[in-house]
Amino acid sequence: MLDTKPYLVIPGTAADLGSRDPGSRQGFDGDKTEGKAALRPFNARLAALQTRLWAESERKLLVVLQAMDTGGKDGTIRHVFRGVNPQGVRVWGFGAPSERELAHDYLWRVHRRTPENGEITIFNRSHYEDVLVVRVKRLAPEETWRRRFGHIVEFERLLVEEGTTVVKFFLHISKEEQRDRLQSRLAESDKRWKFNVADLDDRKLWDDYIAAYEEALTLTSTEHAPWHVVPADRKWYRNLVVSSILIQTLEEMDPRYPPEPDLDGVVVE
Ligand code: AMP
Ligand code: MG
Repeated sequence: MLDTKPYLVIPGTAADLGSRDPGSRQGFDGDKTEGKAALRPFNARLAALQTRLWAESERKLLVVLQAMDTGGKDGTIRHVFRGVNPQGVRVWGFGAPSERELAHDYLWRVHRRTPENGEITIFNRSHYEDVLVVRVKRLAPEETWRRRFGHIVEFERLLVEEGTTVVKFFLHISKEEQRDRLQSRLAESDKRWKFNVADLDDRKLWDDYIAAYEEALTLTSTEHAPWHVVPADRKWYRNLVVSSILIQTLEEMDPRYPPEPDLDGVVVE
C-alpha cells in the first residue's frame, strides 16, 4: 500500500496544484513493469472489500473522477476495478447536459445516479463540471457558478450523513503529457476514435481550467468528502494511488457480512 497522505487536499488549505508534480512516483521504487504487477494484489483486496460491502448492503461508496482531457479517467476505471464483481459497481459518465437535464437544477441528474446500499458508483465527470467547464466556457454567469461551491459541499454532506462515503480524485497530468497523449491518439489507428477536435479548444484554455480546478478543489475538499490530487503522468502509478486510497477508504468503512442465520440442523438433501 502506498503512502497517499501527500495527495490529500487538506480541508481548509489551498490545493496548490502548481507545487504538485504530476510525474511523481513517490514511495514506489520499481519500474513500470513492477508497478503494473503491484496492482494485482491491490485488485484482489479491492474485490474482497467490495464483496463485503455488497453482502452488508447497508452503506455505499461514491467515487468522483475528474481530470483534464486525456487525464486517464477511463483507464483508471478499467484497471483499478479489474476483478471487482460488476454486479455491485456502476459507472456513470456525465457529458454535456441534455435539454431535459438543463430544465432542472444541475444536481438533479447527479443525485439520481448516486449509489444504493451495497454499491460502489463511479462518476466519470460529475457535478464538478458545473463549476469547471461552465465557468471556463462561460456557460453561466459567475454569480451562478460561484454559489454552487456551497451547494456542492452541502449536497455531499447530505449524501454522507445518509450513509454514502464520498471520495474524490483529480487525476493530475502535465500539459506536456496531454500533448503526448493527444498526439498518440492521432498517430495510432486504434486510438483515433478517442480523438476529439474539441479537445484542442479545451487545451488552449489549459490555464483557465487549472485555475478553475484550483479553486474548486480548495473550496470543496472537506472532512466529509475529501479531494485527492493524483499524480497521473505515469498511468501505472496513478492506478496504484487510486487503488490504495479506495482500499484504505473501504477498510475504514469496514463492511461486515450480515449475521449468519441459525442453520443448525439444516440439511441439504
Ligand atoms: P467526455 O468525458 O470526453 O465524454 O466529454 C464529456 C464532455 O461533456 C466534456 O467536454 C465536458 O466538459 C462536458 N460536460 C460535462 N458536464 C457538463 C456540464 N454540466 N455542462 C457543460 N458541459 C459538460
Ligand atoms: Mg472535452
